[in-house]
Amino acid sequence: MEKLIDAVYAAVAFLGNLPKSIFSAVFSFIGRLLTKVLERIRKFNKKSFSSHKVFARRAIICVIVIAVICSATVIGLHNSLKISATALKVDGRVIGYAATPEDADLAKALAIESLGSNGYKPVENADTRTEASNVKNAETLAAAIVDTFKKDLTPVSEVYVNGALLCAVEDGQGAREAIAEAFANANKVYPTSAVSFAESVTIKPAYYTDDKPTITVDKLKGLLAKSDTLQIRHAECKQDVTIKTYETVEIQTNQLFLGDSRIKRSGQNGAEYKISLVTSIGDKEQLSEQRMSVPIKEPVPQIIEKGIRAESLVMETYTVMQTLGVFVWPAVDLYEVTSPFGIRSLGNHKGIDISGKNASGCLVVAGASGVVTEAGYNSGGYGNYVKINHGNGIETLYAHMLDNSLAVSAGDIVQKGQVVGQVGNTGYSFGAHLHFEVRINGVKVDPAPYLGLEPGQKGMVR
Ligand SMILES: [Zn+2]
Repeated sequence: MEKLIDAVYAAVAFLGNLPKSIFSAVFSFIGRLLTKVLERIRKFNKKSFSSHKVFARRAIICVIVIAVICSATVIGLHNSLKISATALKVDGRVIGYAATPEDADLAKALAIESLGSNGYKPVENADTRTEASNVKNAETLAAAIVDTFKKDLTPVSEVYVNGALLCAVEDGQGAREAIAEAFANANKVYPTSAVSFAESVTIKPAYYTDDKPTITVDKLKGLLAKSDTLQIRHAECKQDVTIKTYETVEIQTNQLFLGDSRIKRSGQNGAEYKISLVTSIGDKEQLSEQRMSVPIKEPVPQIIEKGIRAESLVMETYTVMQTLGVFVWPAVDLYEVTSPFGIRSLGNHKGIDISGKNASGCLVVAGASGVVTEAGYNSGGYGNYVKINHGNGIETLYAHMLDNSLAVSAGDIVQKGQVVGQVGNTGYSFGAHLHFEVRINGVKVDPAPYLGLEPGQKGMVR
């Protein structure tokens, strides 16, 4: 009987896949056959059926053929409603249908994620056709795969530290409690600190085959207690007083020669009270963040004076002092300003007087290079004097020099620092000194700035 069913089924399946034209031919044949049968039945309906054994046999065959053809038609119609799909097979058995191979692969990936890589067996894809209602989405298929495999597997909880598998425990609740206990123990080590694990600890459900090892919760506790498994990160507030180092400020001075320096004011360190949040892993400090600072004493900057005065101009037999002005110092070895420019008891002074100990005979030199325009005796008060034109409307004048000491004549070209005469007491003078004038476009101006003197400075410091 079973063989017969198989044969009919095969025939039906075969017919079910036949093209439409063959179906119409079959239908018209059935139509003609039915007409004939009905006609015969009408003719013989009043006679005994048994007396027409041949007809009865034929009629039964007709009915069977019609039944087969009808079933084939139904199955064929049904089959034409199927869509192409991907069957997921485990050990040759279909466990579900996916719309596409991509969906099937996604379902497998989801199943692997859920099961863990353990206990997963190969799932094959097979192209097929099935009713649309049989096709399921990837999540449903993944669940079906998991269900298929789960039967032979043990559910476990995998413990991961920084993404790496530490171990698997059957008792998931116990694993969670063990981790909580390890955290509580860490808190006991640093009771006043903010404590966390330096590593990330996660628990993932998985399914293991019997041969895959798991450990007990007690063993997990032992693992977690080991210092190299989980390190404790803890943060504490630390307070201390720190020294604030003083700054050094440099100021320039013409009181010192270039290259020389001196401390004008000593620096003093300050102090500061600081509160920092220090984060450590174990004993190793990782990060220190300053949270608050209160100055106790501000530092006092050290002031250093740096000399900017140029070195002296060394001539063959004497030395001329450079100044911070445009002219060199016009007297050799005399650095005192005995009378400045301006109003004084003896009238309006149109130059400055330079003198000092043993002034008489000291060398008078040209403040800058130029042409001697006047050199001789002036009865109006200058005595023996020299006037030099430096160009650009600038002139200098040197007065009261010793008799017979003038070293230049009108028309001579002189170099900066060149001797023009000697300090004397000729003309309107009451003691040996050099009267020095500066004229700009013929106007007598205060020579002090041209010699680099500060206002009121009583001479050249050296
Ligand atoms: Zn004078």
